[in-house]
Amino acid sequence: MNDLLDVKHLHKEFDNNVVLKDINLSVKKGEVVVIIGPSGCGKSTFLRCLNGLEEIQSGVIRVDGLEVNPKNKDIVKLRQKIGMVFQSYELFPHLSVIDNLIIAPMKVQKRKREEVTKEALKLLDRVDLLDKKDMYPRQLSGGQKQRVAIVRALLVHPEIILFDEVTAALDPEMVYEVLETMQELARQGSTMIIVTHEMNFAKAVADKIIFFDKGEIVEETDDVEGFFASPKTERAAKFLDRFQ
Ligand code: ADP
Ligand code: MG
Repeated sequence: MNDLLDVKHLHKEFDNNVVLKDINLSVKKGEVVVIIGPSGCGKSTFLRCLNGLEEIQSGVIRVDGLEVNPKNKDIVKLRQKIGMVFQSYELFPHLSVIDNLIIAPMKVQKRKREEVTKEALKLLDRVDLLDKKDMYPRQLSGGQKQRVAIVRALLVHPEIILFDEVTAALDPEMVYEVLETMQELARQGSTMIIVTHEMNFAKAVADKIIFFDKGEIVEETDDVEGFFASPKTERAAKFLDRFQ
């Protein structure tokens, strides 16, 4: 089996409100999957399920062969396989950039400070933030904070990284630098699942497009160009019309 992520018949409800219906998806190593769809259709919930942050009612999720389940005692191991970057950066306000970065690898993975610091500085340099290493989150712009959050996720060496509308809260002029960072990760072969409303970015970066609506996968295709040019379903066409 060479699927890094495997989701079978996932079903999720909140208090009898069905939010995800029979979701099936497999993702291979190095693949970039972009999920699009109207707000409230279950995209964030889906990512949270993948990361073991939500209980599911039925179905199976496996990451690199390990079953994802909030009750799984391997959940700490699982969280190292699957990183997540959110819309709000959730950096620790009282820690400098470098300390924000090294805390999880040191505390959770028991890695040595020198080794993690060296790698963190290298990654910061790659996203052009080396000169900000001793600053605090409040001293950074939104785009810079989001790039720090991406570096923080990378430092744990996850097999897959989930991105949930990471540019949605940014000023327009900062969106580009964050998308550029993600595109660079994609070029380097990272396995990524990205929820975004940036259609041009989706078109450029995706190996596979998933169109979600009302808790279901309505379209799934590797023909990314074809999807944006002429989606097969009325629902996807209607959704895309809003971005014209
Ligand atoms: P999206 O990310 O596509 O906008 P969400 O996954 O956030 O959609 O939400 C899908 C549905 O699940 C919505 O109807 C939302 O109200 C509901 N929902 C999300 N989180 C919770 C929760 N913690 N408790 C109850 N309902 C929730
Ligand atoms: Mg969402």
